[in-house]
Amino acid sequence: MKTKFIFITGGVLSSLGKGVAAAAIGALLEARGLKVTFQKLDPYINVDPGTMNPFQHGEVYVTEDGAETDLDLGHYERFTSVKLGKRHNYTSGRIYHSVISRERRGDYLGGTVQVIPHVTDEIKQAILQLEGEADIAIVEIGGTVGDIEGQPFLEAIRQMRGNLGKDNTLYIHVTYVPFIKTAGELKTKPTQRSVKELRSIGIQPDILLCRSETPVSDDIKPKIAMFCDVAAENIISAVDVACIYDVAMNFHKEGLDERIVEGLRMWTRTPVLAKWQDFSARAKQPQHSVTIAMVGKYTNFSEAYKSLNEALFHAGVANNTSVHVDFVNAEEVRGDELASRLSRADGILIPGGFGQRGIAGKIEATTYARTHNIPFLGICLGMQLAVVEVARNIAGLPLADSAEFAPSTPDPVIYLMKEWYDYRSDSIQKRTEDSDMGGTMRLGAYPCKLVSGTKTHSAYGQDEILERHRHRYEFNNDYRERLSAAGVIFSGLSPDGSLVEMIELKNHPWFVGCQFHPEFNSRPLVPHPLFVAFIQASLANRMKIPTQKA
Ligand code: GLN
Repeated sequence: MKTKFIFITGGVLSSLGKGVAAAAIGALLEARGLKVTFQKLDPYINVDPGTMNPFQHGEVYVTEDGAETDLDLGHYERFTSVKLGKRHNYTSGRIYHSVISRERRGDYLGGTVQVIPHVTDEIKQAILQLEGEADIAIVEIGGTVGDIEGQPFLEAIRQMRGNLGKDNTLYIHVTYVPFIKTAGELKTKPTQRSVKELRSIGIQPDILLCRSETPVSDDIKPKIAMFCDVAAENIISAVDVACIYDVAMNFHKEGLDERIVEGLRMWTRTPVLAKWQDFSARAKQPQHSVTIAMVGKYTNFSEAYKSLNEALFHAGVANNTSVHVDFVNAEEVRGDELASRLSRADGILIPGGFGQRGIAGKIEATTYARTHNIPFLGICLGMQLAVVEVARNIAGLPLADSAEFAPSTPDPVIYLMKEWYDYRSDSIQKRTEDSDMGGTMRLGAYPCKLVSGTKTHSAYGQDEILERHRHRYEFNNDYRERLSAAGVIFSGLSPDGSLVEMIELKNHPWFVGCQFHPEFNSRPLVPHPLFVAFIQASLANRMKIPTQKA
């Protein structure tokens, strides 16, 4: 398959929604019957985003093959049917790491190793890996044009047009057109400056996506066209939207997909957007609403829980329900204040997390959900804490803990499994307390067998599932019997039965924990069954519909 490349850059300022724009372009091209793939090139020096603080950078998105990536890969996967992995996200750090390793090995035969051509060649090689994978590869360059660290990436994509030809490359620049209140109009100067900057590097954009609060109308477009040498019909108004999934349809109304296939000299059918239209219509007219209390750490920064928020939204739409998320800071809200916040929630969710902060509050919230029969979903750390809670308060192990927070607890119900069989690599993996940070995590998709007759099995309607993991600690099998006696049902296990992947509670309307992160597998058009069931249970709780407790 001959692959053509779209390069997406951003200008003026960050947070313009370049990732969503790239993803929406992918959705439109897929709707035209084309096969697409994506790549995100991030200019920062970290070798991968795995160790980056989600509070600063947003969530770490995990792919099926176990890569810890930028959250934009989440947008790409949610908007399309692609499955991405390690080769779809590169940072400057990873590129330089590889160049420097080559230099140390002597691969450059004593030559002077330089940004151009060695670093840029390494970048081009990373991009060209996508050749043959799809009809169109959408490559997004992180950051903003003009950033020092982004220069090698821009130079590499500039060279690509010479290498691949004009019909096989397309440059799309996402820019900003601010509305200035005192003048009462949209101002095009920042866009002119940004394109000038891009042109100074040698890249002439083919299409401009103009982000703005109010539409960039046809009378402004010729002005931008003249200053930027971009055809007026290739200036696309990308106005703010309430729902990101409307972006694809808005782009289509502006003719963007037509301009793209024309630019790349491709002939395709017109896009079939019925499913997106249906999703959008249902999202706008919910019949019910529920409040989910999300008891976490990074609660004032929704980017840190991006996929989770999206998964809840998808499941809400599937239930014709608008989901209001009440972010509860587990470190600050405790005791009576926590109980009063939780009493207003129809469902309680404890998300994944690392480290000591907020643990006590999360356990308190879990107790509340259990004792008040409120639907509960514990994800990764959330499942681990549910195990600790039941061990302490029902199984008669008051000192039970996770070895992550209490290394010397007499009852490490959650612990570091020293050796475990890894299905993905078909090998025995070893973990120790002092292994490298990140190096010992269980990462990526693992199969899980569901026990029939459980709530989780009926939610999925499947005997075996594949879900993505990102954690070090595991359920300690020494406690299976005692916890089972306390009412825990081990509803999902690794195929050999050695790893507990899912739990639920007897005598509760809906109390489920999973060791994996189901949120990475939720799509607007294919909502995740576990979230759908959780929202359904929360809705039943709100409407006081009696549920079977067995
Ligand atoms: N900190 C826990 C572990 O490493 C849970 C991780 C998570 O929630 N992703 O096992």
